[in-house]
Amino acid sequence: MQPHIIARPDHTISRKEISSAALKVLYGLKDAGYFAYLAGGGVRDLLLGRDPKDFDVATNATPEEVKKVFRNCRLIGRRFRLAHVYFHREIIEVSTFRAPTPADDEARSDQHVVAESGIVMRDNVFGSPEEDALRRDFTVNALFYNIADFSIIDYAGGIEDLENKIIRVIGNPATRFTEDPVRIIRALRFAAALDFEIEESAREAIRAQAERLEDCSSSRLYEEIQKLFACGKSHRVFELAAELGVFEHLFPELGAWLNAPDGESKTHWLEKTFAQIDRWRAAGFRVDPALLFALVFGEYHEWIARHIMAEEDIPHADALVEATHRHIRQLDRIRIPKAATHHIAEIMAGQPRFLTTTPKNAKRMLRHRSFLDAFLYFKFAARATGRHEKELEWWEEQRKKK
Ligand code: ATP
Ligand code: MG
Repeated sequence: MQPHIIARPDHTISRKEISSAALKVLYGLKDAGYFAYLAGGGVRDLLLGRDPKDFDVATNATPEEVKKVFRNCRLIGRRFRLAHVYFHREIIEVSTFRAPTPADDEARSDQHVVAESGIVMRDNVFGSPEEDALRRDFTVNALFYNIADFSIIDYAGGIEDLENKIIRVIGNPATRFTEDPVRIIRALRFAAALDFEIEESAREAIRAQAERLEDCSSSRLYEEIQKLFACGKSHRVFELAAELGVFEHLFPELGAWLNAPDGESKTHWLEKTFAQIDRWRAAGFRVDPALLFALVFGEYHEWIARHIMAEEDIPHADALVEATHRHIRQLDRIRIPKAATHHIAEIMAGQPRFLTTTPKNAKRMLRHRSFLDAFLYFKFAARATGRHEKELEWWEEQRKKK
């Protein structure tokens, strides 16, 4: 297939917007006689006038050949072999053009292993630029910027979809989501972050395939969920996740609890939580992932804790710790690291303790290593519910005195 080529005068990407590290890699490869394309999210974001998070490079040089071009280069990756070129403040990821992963489990070579569920376990088969573009997830993520003539190469119709603000799966959505269910979450993230619509057949496939998220690696899901929190539009992501039936497959217990008859008031808390996460993000405030999970799960953990206290005579703080561990133990889909789980439990345990406004308690609490995150939670909860205004004020005073 002939790609659509947009020559330099007909698009807006200028080299000034590309980091000097990425330019060095692109020119280094080109001067060594290879194809050198800027690929993926970098091209997409530049065309949208947004600041790219990072620049990825695609080339026909093999990882070993890339390593020969750059001294500051290391090969990494188990699932895919990639080259990382190191600069002072930046790492440029260079990947060799790859062939698309086969839709069925007819492996094309012994390097291709497809598990029974249809998930591709390993692929390291090099391919043409066209194949590399078409194996990518969405049309807007499949654009190349060619350093040889500063043109944009579009194999998948990404330019048109960018203009129309559409997230469109390359190929058959059902097949592509089966191959890698994480693409479902990526679709939500890009649609929310870029303020795009998900194309209709992809929406249908998401609804039909969302339960496949159960087959994903739990550590990959943990990472993807962090990206959802960090995308700046987590509120919209979770609206979409609810609308397309994804939410309950990410957080099954929480989802079931929300879907119970009196769920209306419960989603209120979540909406405020996501709005807060986005405000922190907009202000450039880096928040510990444990605090984000504590907030998202917060009301549900409070609810479990009330049940525990109805059965056992234990303090509220201890019940909250127990509630956190019970839920997270069940949550086998997302591998929340042990240290983070512990931190979530401490944040929760802190909540009832903020209701005791004595100097002795202040001294003890302020010294605690989870104090700040627990306090951020308390402040959020007080404002979200309109409760504990006096205590909040008192603790603000104590912090100033410290
Ligand atoms: P971000 O701004 O979040 O970095 P991105 O589009 O660059 O967005 P990455 O996760 O950095 O996303 O991936 C880089 C590129 O690799 C994507 O643009 C896409 O072309 C391709 N890609 C990433 N993950 C997948 C996947 N699961 N399936 C197919 N292609 C993928
Ligand atoms: Mg990227």
